[in-house]
Amino acid sequence: MADIHSTDLLQQFASDNYSGICPEAWTAMEAANRGHVSAYGDDPWTAAAADAFREMFETECEVFFAFNGTAANSLVLASLCQSYHAVICCESAHVETDECGAPEFFSNGSKLLVVQSSDGKLTPAAIQEIATKRQDIHFPKPRAVTISQSTETGRVYTVEELRALSSACEQHGLRLHMDGARFANACASIGCSPAELTWRSGIDVLCFGGTKNGMAVGEAILFFNRKLAEDFDYRCKQAGQLSSKMRFLAAPWVGMLESGAWLRNAAHANACAFYLGDQLARIPGVQIVWPPEANAVFVSASDEILEGMHQRGWKFYTFIGGAARFMCSWDTDRERIDEFCRDLRLCAERTSMQAK
Ligand SMILES: *Cc1c(COP(=O)(O)O)cnc(C)c1O
Repeated sequence: MADIHSTDLLQQFASDNYSGICPEAWTAMEAANRGHVSAYGDDPWTAAAADAFREMFETECEVFFAFNGTAANSLVLASLCQSYHAVICCESAHVETDECGAPEFFSNGSKLLVVQSSDGKLTPAAIQEIATKRQDIHFPKPRAVTISQSTETGRVYTVEELRALSSACEQHGLRLHMDGARFANACASIGCSPAELTWRSGIDVLCFGGTKNGMAVGEAILFFNRKLAEDFDYRCKQAGQLSSKMRFLAAPWVGMLESGAWLRNAAHANACAFYLGDQLARIPGVQIVWPPEANAVFVSASDEILEGMHQRGWKFYTFIGGAARFMCSWDTDRERIDEFCRDLRLCAERTSMQAK
């Protein structure tokens, strides 16, 4: 039998979703676990969570909750598009590479038009190029743009960049969606208000990720352009995303937002990634691919070095962003980072000795 009682569950850097639930989310779940309340979102926790988002974003947005990011992203894109429309995104976008075709499935066929990008960021020029390349009836009509903040490559769009993107969208009649699986990390990284990073910069809809920020499960969907939210509740229900015990999706958000844990957790994860990046940069044979801007560090190193790390029990992916990716989370321990770097240095030294 698998050992579910092991106490030796060491931290890894494979993904920020390897982590557990933070105290603030856990306490709110526990508080919600009292008595009976109405089901399907008609409860005080769901109302309080939606209000907390409106207060934090300084606007009367429409708020919905889904179980995960794949559902949130693909249902939003489906609601922005007809089946003959297209969505512009980066080739490295989660919607393209990691959602098993869910955006196309839920939209009944809206095509993702991918843009090559060396650093995982979309640019106004790329939007312009794709939006104007074909305007004949034989090609799906671009209707939406989706960007990830922070990106799958661990980068963060600045407010200026977001404004430039949204003005390109406006020019071409495109709606702008933000995949914010790591939105908190972006806020913590550039120190802007959530409003500044979204609707004040022209974002129509945000999927705000809770899972990687310290919750057990859950994604909030915020429609700043409220007209676009029409019938979105039906879409969620049809897709199996309407939780009957909604209070348990909503309550952790109340705990996270009211305590400020959402931002503290992200700031901690980012700080750990900067620290990890600093240490890794000093190891001969290891190159930092992009300077860390959020909670990810990407490095290139020889297969021998990386294989050595796998053999020492370290888990990490090498297929995301074309390099080895190390993620920090809300509970990352600096001592574990030091251990990781010691091992990596050893693997690198051993490999370089063998080469001589
Ligand atoms: C993790 C992640 C998601 C959400 O993935 P789920 O596993 O469906 O919750 C969405 N976008 C990005 C960029 C992610 O990293």
